[in-house]
Amino acid sequence: MPQALEILKKYWKHDQFRSLQKEIIDSVLSGQDTFALLPTGGGKSICFQVPALMKDGICLVISPLVALIKDQVQNLQSRDIKAIALTGGLKSEEISVLLDNCQFGNYKFIYLSPERLQTEWILDRIKQLPISMIVIDEAHCVSQWGHDFRPEYRKLKSIIKNIADVPIMALTATATPKVQQDIQKNLGMIEAQVFKASFNRPNLYYEVRPKTNVGKQIIQYIKSHSGKSGIIYCLSRKKTEELSELLIANGIKAMPYHAGMDGHERSKVQDQFLMQDVDVIVATIAFGMGIERIAMLLYQIGDIRMFYENDVRFLEQFKSLV
Ligand code: ADP
Repeated sequence: MPQALEILKKYWKHDQFRSLQKEIIDSVLSGQDTFALLPTGGGKSICFQVPALMKDGICLVISPLVALIKDQVQNLQSRDIKAIALTGGLKSEEISVLLDNCQFGNYKFIYLSPERLQTEWILDRIKQLPISMIVIDEAHCVSQWGHDFRPEYRKLKSIIKNIADVPIMALTATATPKVQQDIQKNLGMIEAQVFKASFNRPNLYYEVRPKTNVGKQIIQYIKSHSGKSGIIYCLSRKKTEELSELLIANGIKAMPYHAGMDGHERSKVQDQFLMQDVDVIVATIAFGMGIERIAMLLYQIGDIRMFYENDVRFLEQFKSLV
């Protein structure tokens, strides 16, 4: 069997593993069910992709979002790793051909949604494949205490036990103890090896300030950080428009962004933000797929300030993510 580090270097060109990646890989390679809690951006994918490439057979990845599936499959294909996605738009015949290819074409990864796995004939075909390990990505979807509960995830426990007697790996960035216990119970992974990274991110800074005159506070704040970009999240579409008008009237290059705008307008705002023609986007959570994505953005941006009024629930949720 090739060494994990060789695989990491060969396909990803990274020189070393990040904290806990190697331990997680070793755990699943030793045949144990493995539960990895790493923050967003912590490098979860490599934790199952590297061992899957070391083992014979195909790794089955269950993931809730088509966008995530497509992104990961394209990423693997760009590294010359054979992977397929069984996503929504495909016809039965197309899926059948893809599964044939998997059987005879030395594929290493099949990605699919929990709904797809509940289609009987697909499940039967998958059972005939040489599955090497089963991965449940975004495993917090199995917990009703998580922020993205998906009823289909609840049925996974009995389904995956019947596919093959192989190690299961669950991955999530949600680290609250209640969700963690719930995931282990609902996936039948009580005995799993659990790896939990520190969720403390030294490059991330946040500060909560009382709101007095928020328009004035924000304008002052932006003006004292000229040359920097930012995103302001508001709770309503109307507020995003009002606030961006106020900012523009005060000489700040701002634009609103919300789900009431059509796709073309929205991508224009995104492009302008990326091209730095716009400094500040005033958005609802339609910008960036919700709080997980926001946490990831903040992780990438680093130093950040926020103004919160009284939405303690949102703040608590945010704190649990970053
Ligand atoms: P997560 O799923 O935990 O949010 P990803 O698996 O998408 O994170 O990884 C985030 C980024 O970190 C990716 O660009 C990935 O290539 C990079 N990465 C992961 N592991 C390593 C490593 N050992 N060395 C360098 N970069 C890494």
